[in-house]
Amino acid sequence: MTSKKSIQTTLTHSDYRPPAGFAAYPTAIHHASTVLFKDVASLRAGDWRNKTAYTYGLHGTPTTFTLEARLAAIEGGKHCLLAPSGLAAISMILLALLKAGDDVLLPDNVYNPTRELGRWLERDFGVSARFYDPLVGGAIADLIRPQTKLIWTEAPGSVSMEVPDLPAICAAARAKGIPVALDNTWAAGLALRGFDVGADIVMQALTKYQSGGSDVLMGAAITRDAALNEHLSMAHMRLGMGVGGDDAYLVLRGLETMKLRFDAHDAAARKVAGWLKTRPEIAKVLHPAFDDCPGHDVWRRDFTGAGGLFSVVFDARYSGEQVDRFVDALELFGIGYSWGGTHSLAVPYRMQGMRRDWTDAGALVRLNIGLEGPDDLIADLAQALAKL
Ligand SMILES: *Cc1c(COP(=O)(O)O)cnc(C)c1O
Repeated sequence: MTSKKSIQTTLTHSDYRPPAGFAAYPTAIHHASTVLFKDVASLRAGDWRNKTAYTYGLHGTPTTFTLEARLAAIEGGKHCLLAPSGLAAISMILLALLKAGDDVLLPDNVYNPTRELGRWLERDFGVSARFYDPLVGGAIADLIRPQTKLIWTEAPGSVSMEVPDLPAICAAARAKGIPVALDNTWAAGLALRGFDVGADIVMQALTKYQSGGSDVLMGAAITRDAALNEHLSMAHMRLGMGVGGDDAYLVLRGLETMKLRFDAHDAAARKVAGWLKTRPEIAKVLHPAFDDCPGHDVWRRDFTGAGGLFSVVFDARYSGEQVDRFVDALELFGIGYSWGGTHSLAVPYRMQGMRRDWTDAGALVRLNIGLEGPDDLIADLAQALAKL
C-alpha cells in the first residue's frame, strides 16, 4: 500500500492475499506451533528472521506477519514485532538495548509498570535507570552520560498528561548517537507518528485503540532501521515472545475502524473536558488540547488529534476520600484500568506517591471517554459532582 493513500484507506485495505479461489477481505486465522518443511534441506535453510518464510509458530504465521506489516505501515515504519502485551513489548525493548553497566533515561511521568521495570533493572541487573522531567526538552542533552544507551519517552504521560517536546529530545539524542524509544499508545500512530518526530523505536499497546474492544492484550515494537530491528528480534526470540492467531485477528479487525473510533473518542473527550473546565469543583483539565495541560503548545505543534484519554485535578478543598466517592457515584463510567475501548472509565490517582515533583494538592481522576453519548456522560459527571 503506498503511503499516498489516506490513513482511513490504509487502515481499511490490507495487502493480505487469500488462498487462490477464495476471495474475502478478512485475514485468515492460522494456528500452528509446528510448521512443516518440504524436505531437510529447506528445514536447514530456514531462518526464523526471514519474514517471507515460516519456521515455527512462535516466530510468526501469515496472520501475525500481516498484522506486523499493517502496524508498521500505520506508523510509517518498516519492521514490527508483536508481543503478548504492551508491557511485554516495553520489557523486550529495554532488555534488547540495555546490559549491566548501561544507563537508561525514563520520563518521571512514565507508565507506572515501565517505572517499575526500570527500577528492577537497576536493583537486580546492574543497569542505571534515571528519571527526567518530562518537560526537559533539548536540555536532555545535559543528562546524557557515556553509559546512556536508551532514552525512553511517552507522549503524553498517560496519567499526568505532560506533552514532551519529542523533536527536541530526539535531536539531542541523535547528536549523541543514542536511540529514542517512544511509547506512542496515546496517539495510536494516528495523532502522531513517532518516526516523523525523530524516534527510532515506536512502541504501541495494541490493547487500547487498535483492538478497541477491551478484550485483548498485545503490544508492538516498530522500527525503520534494520540493525535496530535485528537487535529487538534477538530479544523477541530469546524471550519467547509470540501472540496467538485469534488475538492477532481481533486486532486486525479493530484496525479497520480505529481512525473513526479514535476521532469519535477525541470529539467526545473534548466536549466532556470543555464542560469539566467550566465546573468550580475542577481546578485543572489535563487534556493536551487545553491550555491547563503542560506541553499544550507542543501538542498543538506536533499532534493532529487527541483521542479519549485525559485527567482532571479537583479543587484542593475536596479530600482524596471525597473524590473517591465521586468516582464511586459515577454510573456510566466503569472503575478500571486501561482505555481505548468503547466504555468510559474513571480511575482516581494519588499523585503525591507517584511523582517526585507533583505540586497540585487536589486529587487527580483519569477519564477514558468511550463511545457513549457525550451528553449522557456529562449528565453522569454532573450527578456525581453533586454528591461531592
Ligand atoms: C496500557 C499501556 C501500556 C501497557 O499495555 P498492556 O497491553 O496493558 O500491557 C503501556 N503504555 C501505556 C502508555 C499504556 O497506556
